[in-house]
Amino acid sequence: MAEPQSTLITGISELVTNDAERGASGERRASGERRAYAALTDAALVISGDRVAWTGPAARAPAADAVVDAGGRAVLPGFADSHAHLIFAGERSAEFAARMAGRPYRAGGILVTVEATRAAPDAVLRANLRRLAAEMLGQGTTTFECKSGYGLTVPDEARGLALAAEITPEVTYLGAHVVPPEFAADPAGYVDLVRGPMLAACAPHARWIDVFCEDGAFGGAEAAAVLAAGAAAGLGTRVHANQLAPGPGVQVAARAGAASADHCTFLTDADVDALASTPVVATLLPGAEFGTRQPFPDARRLLDAGVTVALATDCNPGSSFTSSMPFCIALAVREMRMTTEEAVWAATAGGARALRRDDIGHLGIGARADLILLEAPSHAYLAYRPGVPLIAAVWQAGRLAAGSIP
Ligand SMILES: [Zn+2]
Repeated sequence: MAEPQSTLITGISELVTNDAERGASGERRASGERRAYAALTDAALVISGDRVAWTGPAARAPAADAVVDAGGRAVLPGFADSHAHLIFAGERSAEFAARMAGRPYRAGGILVTVEATRAAPDAVLRANLRRLAAEMLGQGTTTFECKSGYGLTVPDEARGLALAAEITPEVTYLGAHVVPPEFAADPAGYVDLVRGPMLAACAPHARWIDVFCEDGAFGGAEAAAVLAAGAAAGLGTRVHANQLAPGPGVQVAARAGAASADHCTFLTDADVDALASTPVVATLLPGAEFGTRQPFPDARRLLDAGVTVALATDCNPGSSFTSSMPFCIALAVREMRMTTEEAVWAATAGGARALRRDDIGHLGIGARADLILLEAPSHAYLAYRPGVPLIAAVWQAGRLAAGSIP
């Protein structure tokens, strides 16, 4: 059956648009300003093809080929999860349980997942990837980024990225995740591989390059060298920065002109200044602090300094095995003192900013028609009713992609 050309969704109690373009005086604003948090009440929206064609008061809605009555529910932009590690095999629940119990656990860490991933056939990796992507979609995520980083050989990194590129355009080469055991005696040799032959094999499948800049992974100079090589190969840059301790990651990201510095848990005043004075987005990943029982990042300090903040899941089998943006929103509000509006903005427009995308994360005219129908009258319910399945239906590029219309 052919899809209708246009669909009017009406009866929306709260329509979060993140589109302040049409202010009271109708002036067109600078793109950053007009993508601030914004919402309409008693609203309607028209989807035409794969795009948003109209938003406004329900009483003034134009006709369309099909009509959906939201019945007093809220509509939001689809979530943009800008940080996830989905190319892996195996799981580490015993490690998690031991960590929560305060028990020592030897057989843990990233290298356990590296071993399982290298040993897995393509079909296993592909099935795991597709299962997680479907899980994300069902929870309202309409765009997600996906990193490599559990292969750490030229063929294993390249095949992981090729699999990821089958299901998302936001593919990130993370050969610089950790130094694999076969290079333990020669970490400099591994950096040369990452920015040389491995990059050459991976760049055709990727849009981004990322590096884990942390004690025990890669230092500031190594991280900068990896990012520079990636940029020279045409990739955008992102950094795992300042997760476990203060360090050079944020400054490396600022100097590289990175799209995003991710984690940002341990920051100096100079780090906050660097984030506030550059376009680098601070992507906060509260699932990781939840899963490791570490202190949460200070979102208020960043927001009050004028830093652009995104929220993402960091979905991975070790430190943060959640694919749920609603869970991250609830943590951000409860544990990181973000307002419900700030958290929803960070999970939608913030994620889009971290991926340097202007077509998603908002519901302005011409945006891709990625939207969520909540089983609730307002966005605040995402934090107010944590752990409750509130995603009634999800449209992706104008098509009903998950859930159903109540
Ligand atoms: Zn990560």
